[in-house]
Amino acid sequence: MEADYDVIILGAGAAGLAAGLYTTRAMMKTLILESIGPGGQLLITDEIENYPGFTNGVKGQELAQIMDQQTARFGAETEYAEVEGVDDLDKPLKVVHTYDRDYTTGRLIIATGGAHNKLGNPGEDRFAGKGVSYCAVCDGNFFRGEDVVVVGGGDSALDEAHYLSGIVKSVTIIHRRDELRATKVLQDRAFANPKMKFLWSHMVEEFTGNEVLEAARVKNLKTDEIYDYPTAAAFIYVGFHPNTEYLKGKLAMDPLGHIETDIHMRTKIPGVYACGDARADSTRQLGAAVGDGITAALSAYHDHAA
Ligand code: NAP
Repeated sequence: MEADYDVIILGAGAAGLAAGLYTTRAMMKTLILESIGPGGQLLITDEIENYPGFTNGVKGQELAQIMDQQTARFGAETEYAEVEGVDDLDKPLKVVHTYDRDYTTGRLIIATGGAHNKLGNPGEDRFAGKGVSYCAVCDGNFFRGEDVVVVGGGDSALDEAHYLSGIVKSVTIIHRRDELRATKVLQDRAFANPKMKFLWSHMVEEFTGNEVLEAARVKNLKTDEIYDYPTAAAFIYVGFHPNTEYLKGKLAMDPLGHIETDIHMRTKIPGVYACGDARADSTRQLGAAVGDGITAALSAYHDHAA
């Protein structure tokens, strides 16, 4: 029996779209399955300054649109459906299950990326959408002219705090250590920003309020003092986890659920590849995700043609 597609790509983020660009140009019949919309993390990123080719940076949503159109131009089909599982990965016809139907494919490229972690604190779920957010680009405008906090000390926290500082009255970064993890250039920009404040060595114990978020209950880890820090919103950027739950037990993964590959993006199962934020040892950079996607596509093509 012939497969429905030569290759199915799971996820239309930067890695998946780059992979699709290459598989379609290699004349492989390609389907991209995406649950939300093309762009992945690009959709929740404001300004991208470190993707080569854009002297003055580029907006995440704009780049997502360009990448999607470029891939579609060469004939990649896209279906919007949540992938519920995969089967027969070691067989010539690999099966992908979605709610509506099953698809078969000769090659499978996994590019389902990841999502921001939650803090897991009391109040976090209760105030989600009522002050607690994981997307400054989506929700920042609701808090125009107000005081907000950002939790975390990595690149995401500082990037998004910078974006928010153009909208809100002040941004307080709440970080559990007294040193940031973020890249030096982002740190320098944050320290020079008059709207940015820092609560060093503090953890958020709880989010409090009535109808909407009113304060972050914080603990000073050096003095053990606990107090309420008033805020209209809390943007949480405390790391990232891969979207690979639906593949558990089917592929080799690291303890955090990233899929293991070789440098050609091949997993241990022939014909199955992983790329971008979902794979182990990814640098989690946009340019690297694109490179991964291209490498996965070339490997899939090479194995297909062999
Ligand atoms: P990250 O680098 O893992 O940083 C997560 C931050 O959250 C760290 O500062 C960590 O504190 C803190 N944290 C973790 N768990 C916490 C908890 N339970 N309570 C309080 N704080 C907690 O994650 P990220 O910033 O999302 O970045 C992910 C990857 O994407 C990185 O490789 C990054 O370089 C990349 N990225 C790059 C850019 C860019 O190039 N502009 C932008 C965004 C993301 P500690 O520091 O104490 O561990």
